[in-house]
Order: sequence, then C-alpha cells, then structure tokens
Amino acid sequence: MHVYNTESRRLDEVVPLEEGHIRLYTCGPTVYNAAHIGNFRTYVFEDLLRRYLKYCGFRVTQVMNLTDVDDKTIRGAKAAGKPLREYTQIYKDMFFEDIKTLNIEPAEHYPAATDHIDEVIAIIEKLFEKGLAYKSEDGSVYFSIAKFPNYGRLARIDTSALQSGARVAQDEYEKENASDFALWKAWTEEDGDVVWESPWGRGRPGWHIECSAMSMKYLGESFDIHTGGVDNMFPHHDDEIAQSEGATGKTFVKYWMHSAHLVVDGKKMSKSLGNFHTLREVMERGYQGREVRYVLLAAHYRQSLNFTFEAVESARASLSRLDEFSDRLRECKTSGAALPAWAETAKTSFETALNEDLNIAEALASLFDMVHAGNRAMDAGEMDWSAGAVLELMKSFDSVLGILEKPAAEVDADAQALLEARAKARADKDWAESDRIRDALSELGWEVRDSAEGQKLKKKG
Ligand code: AMP
Ligand code: ZN
Repeated sequence: MHVYNTESRRLDEVVPLEEGHIRLYTCGPTVYNAAHIGNFRTYVFEDLLRRYLKYCGFRVTQVMNLTDVDDKTIRGAKAAGKPLREYTQIYKDMFFEDIKTLNIEPAEHYPAATDHIDEVIAIIEKLFEKGLAYKSEDGSVYFSIAKFPNYGRLARIDTSALQSGARVAQDEYEKENASDFALWKAWTEEDGDVVWESPWGRGRPGWHIECSAMSMKYLGESFDIHTGGVDNMFPHHDDEIAQSEGATGKTFVKYWMHSAHLVVDGKKMSKSLGNFHTLREVMERGYQGREVRYVLLAAHYRQSLNFTFEAVESARASLSRLDEFSDRLRECKTSGAALPAWAETAKTSFETALNEDLNIAEALASLFDMVHAGNRAMDAGEMDWSAGAVLELMKSFDSVLGILEKPAAEVDADAQALLEARAKARADKDWAESDRIRDALSELGWEVRDSAEGQKLKKKG
C-alpha cells in the first residue's frame, strides 16, 4: 500500500517500524463544543485508513487524543460558568455518541490532556536539558525554534524570515508568524482554577506539547503514521516534531497524512465562520448517519469536498442501490459455489484502488460495477455462481467502507403486539388471520417476512 506522505511530498510505500503492526496517532477533538461535520470529515478519513490497514492484515494501534485544556476550552468553560472538567465532559460524551452514529471504529486509546500533565512536564524537562527550552519573564516556558535544525520542515516554511527570539503565546498562529511557541503557560487571571504545579511555577501546558506527550506515551518515541486535517500541519504538527525530536533525538513519525477540508461555497467549514452544521443538525433533518458518512467518505481525502444537502440525497440513492442489490442476492437462488468473474474483478480493482493512497472514488466505482454486473446476470438468469460468496465479498468491502449496515429500526409496541399475535395465528395454522395481521403491519409501515428463524420485520421504503 502507498500513501501520500506530506513530509516527503510523494507516495511512499507503507512499511511499519514493527512488522505487521501500525501505530497511528490521530489528532482528536478539542472538546469545547459539538464537533461539526468538517471535523468528522477528518475522522472519517482516519477511519477509512484504519479499516483499510486492518483489511490488509496489519494490527493497528490507534490513539486519538481529547484536547480538554487549551485556550478554547478555558474560554468556553468560563463563558458557560462551569468548571473545565464538567464543561469538557459534555462534549466528550457528545463526541463518542457522534462517532457511533457515523460508524467510526473506536481507537484503542482516547487519552485526555488533563490526565497527562506529568508526561508533558517530563518532555519540557528534557528540552531544558538540551537547551531547546527557556523561561520567559512572565514564568512561561518557550521552545526556541532557532535551535532546532530544520524547524518547520513539514510545512516547508521559509525559515530565513524567522524572527529569532520572537514569541507567540496563543496556540494557533499563521506561518508568517512562526516564532518561539509556548510549552508551558504561566497562570493568568483568565485561567481561573485551571492550574497545575510545575518546576517552573504554576500554569498549564500549551496545546502542541499535549500531542507529543500523549502520542509518545502510547505509541513510543517513534511511530508509523500521524494524521490530522491540513490546518493542523502548521504550526501544530511542526511544533510536535520539534518538541518530540528535540527531546528524544529520534525520528518522531514515519508518515504524515493530512486530509483536505470540508468546505461550504469554497470556504473551510468552521465555527469561526459560522458556516457549519453539526452532525446532530443534519440528523434532525431526517438523514441517517450512514448517509452523512457516505458523503464524507466518497471523495478522496486530499481533495477538498463541498458540502451540500443534495450530496446527502444522492448518498441516500447510492445506498439504496447497494441495499437493493444485497436484498436481491439474499433472495436469489444461485447454483454455483464460487465468486463469479465479475466479482473477482471488483475485488481486485477495489484493492488496487485503495492501495494507491486510498483512492476511494475508484474503490466505490468497483463496487457499483459489481452491482451492475450482478444485476445483469440475475436479469439474464445466469446463476452458476454463489450469491452467498458475493454477499461475503460485500461484507468484506464493508469492513472497510462501513456503510452497508442499516441502523436497526426500532420496533414499536404496536408492531410488536401484532407480531406476537401473528406468531400465534401461524402456530394455530390460522392463515387468514396471519394474512390479516400482515396487512395491518404493512399499514404501520412494516414488511414482514417468514424465514426459517421465524418472522422478520423490515421497515418499508
Ligand atoms: P479541532 O477540534 O479544531 O482541534 O479539530 C479537530 C480536527 O478536525 C482536526 O484534525 C482538524 O484539522 C479537523 N478539521 C477542522 N475543520 C475541518 C474542516 N472544515 N474540514 C476537515 N477537517 C477539519
Ligand atoms: Zn494534535
């Protein structure tokens, strides 16, 4: 498998540091409000990456951090008049609900920054030993970028323009303002009771060092893949490189991968522009998690993706086509034992596509070509293949795509009572009553099917 490595600016073959095992760090949410679907584009891309690595046979250890202390969380908690922990807990819970809605596989570890202050302090101490950190007049600690060779190499910033000794205290800044950045921020009035002791006095960690601390704790000083949205590349990821490599003297990360933005009318979807939709809002409009997932998944991760509700509608249509095909396969009587040639072709092209930097558009095209070929074969009565084998293949594709499983429709009490009455009627061989109840269920929007395991309800339409 090849991926586009932001650091080398080319497609590199994925060869893990430890055989058969990929260690993956994915920058997680800042838990100061409900994540918007732009954030989820990045998490869905990371989910596709994780799932495909597993499909290829790698064991994956993924860490996604929760940024629960930084400039934004402190500001938010203060505005809401809540203690930081209580405030961030609300958004942590929401995040976990939302990833379930989007069928994002859970990572192996979700460390929170506030639980890793000791690890942060240990790294800063090492940076002091190496002469890369210094304390400023106000008691904050800064990283000296002029002392780190090749600072800014990921984003390829022009270091000739660097202002040596200039400092930036806030977590986010533009490339043009590259300066010494804060590792430890001395307590100020603004921070209220958000404060920890350190060898340099009371304060709190900077945002960038949190990710160095949590990635290295769970994945080691060197690991395979680090991802995030493209806005994280600078300064966040370049600062992570400087801090981590500065402290350990080892290469921090082998492959850097960045996803392009979800945009609205050409502008990045973001809280600050106000052009965002939370997942919850989209669901309230009557869409399903898998439909939103499909939209976010279907465009190549390095291409910016324009969000529209028409796209969600068209995802719905694509998914019904896939559902109908699966239903048809389940019902048809084929006579062979193996995959037909058209499914073998789809399998090969699906894998070839994803092997090339997760070419999802091609992978989905392989799947739809298979649906087309399968429907044609069934229309023509060519049945010397195994529908079960094709269904298994669909399932294996879906271990990567995560879009085929429909949310189980809640069976309400009325339908449940009818279902039980019908079971009784059938046991009594009262077929007229059984049919009458079938019609009653149908009026409630349920299709009932009789199978070897008993009655099955399916929501119609
Ligand atoms: P944040 O919670 O702001 O730290 O962002 C969490 C993740 O979402 C980061 O990896 C960001 O790069 C990513 N992100 C933020 N906005 C967008 C967007 N409009 N499209 C894609 N990814 C985004
Ligand atoms: Zn990070």
